[in-house]
Amino acid sequence: MSTIELPILNGTRFRTQFATELRAAPRISTLQVNIGYVCNLACRHCHVESSPARTGPEDNMDEPTVRRVVEWVLAHPEIEMVDLTGGSPEMNPAFRWMVETIARSGRRVMNRCNPTIIEHVDRATGVDYAWVPAFLAEHRVEVVASMPCYLEDNVDRQRGRGAFGASIEGLLKLVDVGYGRDPALRLNLVYNPVGPHLPPPQAGLETDYKRELQERFGLVFNELWTITNMPIKRWRNELERAGKLESYMRTLIEAFNESTIDGLMCRHQISIDPAGRLYDCDFNQALAMRTPGSEDRFLWDYTAAELSDRVIATDDHCYGCTAGAGSSCGGALA
Ligand code: SF4
Ligand code: SF4
Repeated sequence: MSTIELPILNGTRFRTQFATELRAAPRISTLQVNIGYVCNLACRHCHVESSPARTGPEDNMDEPTVRRVVEWVLAHPEIEMVDLTGGSPEMNPAFRWMVETIARSGRRVMNRCNPTIIEHVDRATGVDYAWVPAFLAEHRVEVVASMPCYLEDNVDRQRGRGAFGASIEGLLKLVDVGYGRDPALRLNLVYNPVGPHLPPPQAGLETDYKRELQERFGLVFNELWTITNMPIKRWRNELERAGKLESYMRTLIEAFNESTIDGLMCRHQISIDPAGRLYDCDFNQALAMRTPGSEDRFLWDYTAAELSDRVIATDDHCYGCTAGAGSSCGGALA
């Protein structure tokens, strides 16, 4: 990663929070797959810098790689969950085959869905993503949908004009097929702050979201997960431009909370990029920080047992996961 050149940091400070190296749990249970960086949006805070322009050969997981990843999952019963992320995962042509095959094996499949994709028709290819809600429901896919606020201005400021309206329309179509109402169809929303501050307490914000979205749109969902914006990539650049990077880092460091360590997502999962290269989490992937020792290897060069209890690559951006109530792909930790 690019070094955070700030007087309050020395580039190793997060690592020195611990007497020993941070290690994964004795048994990992989740494979997080970044299936491609292409997205119909280009959000200001996007840590993987997704956008409609990410259509290069390296940007999407190709079909042979999808097959190798699925074979690896099927060969490892300890992998209970496959967590699909992007970009907009649905934009990968092999997405449906992958979901169908993994779901048929009895594993949980989670899809990190930007709900505007459901309203999207790709101008270049003519692909209409209206199929997404029924397909996800048919395969009992757990949906994690980004929704940074219940107020239109805040969402449009972060995600682009019209994003709030398209998100509501997309979410309502998920509710129409049973999401948020049928106990087998879980719909969780993700909040991330619009400005340079920590998320408010998750439980209270969930109550506000449920009230506002139900009253105004008839929208129901299961849980709200709050996620801290990581000081990397687009968000870091924006903080730098606004002269707020140092104060944001100070906020994260001063809110360090040791009780978040056990639940850090890197401790329970392994993350791969579209080529099958290994990272301890999606943030490290965005920073090209490979899982230590895996530099010349791919997912299929390891067993799940070999990826358990591994040393995790950390740096100062990790303060984004340990601040306050903590932050992970599943929301607050403490
Ligand atoms: S919807 Fe998600 S993946 Fe797409 S640009 Fe926004 S934050 Fe990135
Ligand atoms: S960014 Fe968070 S999840 Fe990733 S390695 Fe650091 S602490 Fe773990």
